[in-house]
Amino acid sequence: MTQTIYRDTWAEVDLDAIEYNINQIRARIPQHCSVIAVVKADGYGHGAVEVAERALQSGAEMLAVAILEEALTLREAGFDVPILVFGRVAPKDVAIAAEKDITLTFFQKEWLQEVNQISLPQTLKLHMKWDTGMGRIGLRTEKELKELIDELKDQSNVQLTGIYTHFATADEPGTDYFHMQNERFDRLMTAFERMWTDPVAIHTGNSAASIRFPEKMHHYIRFGISMYGMYPSSTVKGERNIDLKQSFSLHSRLIHVKQLAPGESVSYGATYTTSDYEWIGTIMIGYADGWIRKLQDIEVLIDGKRMPIVGRICMDQTMIRLDKEYPVGTEVTLIGRQQNDMIEVDEVADYLNTISYEIPCMISSRVPRIYT
Ligand code: PLP
Repeated sequence: MTQTIYRDTWAEVDLDAIEYNINQIRARIPQHCSVIAVVKADGYGHGAVEVAERALQSGAEMLAVAILEEALTLREAGFDVPILVFGRVAPKDVAIAAEKDITLTFFQKEWLQEVNQISLPQTLKLHMKWDTGMGRIGLRTEKELKELIDELKDQSNVQLTGIYTHFATADEPGTDYFHMQNERFDRLMTAFERMWTDPVAIHTGNSAASIRFPEKMHHYIRFGISMYGMYPSSTVKGERNIDLKQSFSLHSRLIHVKQLAPGESVSYGATYTTSDYEWIGTIMIGYADGWIRKLQDIEVLIDGKRMPIVGRICMDQTMIRLDKEYPVGTEVTLIGRQQNDMIEVDEVADYLNTISYEIPCMISSRVPRIYT
């Protein structure tokens, strides 16, 4: 379905960059290791369906999301590859997952017991989650593992197809905690292999782990942030182990340009007052688009030059101090490249004292995504 865009603000998603980034990581990880494209949160704000399509064309073999709704959206869009849900799905909702051949994550004996009571349309595929130090979800001990395995052996409506864990510090300068998690994983794996002989897919690494420790990866990696061309942290960026291309950019156009006399104010609260004759431009983006009020004073690119946002960001509109008069319709880049300068997602994240992951996710669905 083609989308009609009436507004003068849009995000661009460069799908060639997604392909480039997948090729980069595939060249780095062992040959036997495949890519799970992590497209939760609507593909980290880039668009899950479009990203998934290009990721699979680029050699990814599986998709992963956080919640069942996201998996169902992908199935409805026609993807027939394995889809893994990272989060817990309530037992009452597992029948639809089985019907649509969606793989769920489990880690609780009681959950398995409840699922056992449910009549499923076909076998439900499951990946078991081990908490080796993330402290979020997953079983932690050999005792819990044995209980789950005993439960699984009694069950005919589910099939164990995978085992995984998640690293808490793979992107941090210190690597001791990462290695400790790996050791815990290996120890649990030794115990598991004594209890279970059927083949299972094993995956531990996210972007940071797969970039920094490719030799530690198993059958799959779960490639998220770096598929979108962002580095998991400044540590990983600084190590220069991989070249990535940022896929996301954000643009608008001047919808009004005026010259204000000295002493005139701009926007709610009159927090900005001109000190001279100043050209002020207005763009149609605001906090309802995820361009939040804390971004006041950040710079944008016009004509390849940096110019600051002035005054409070409104719900739908934002003002910029221009270096001269520009025609209405002039392109403004809030994230991305213009001529020789680039505003990286990281720059906006640093300005907000947060991580790059948050930035494209926070640009709301009111901002249309255009795929190039
Ligand atoms: N695996 C799990 C379980 C996750 O929750 C995430 C994202 O948070 C990922 C993999 C992907 O991580 P990254 O985006 O750092 O590659």
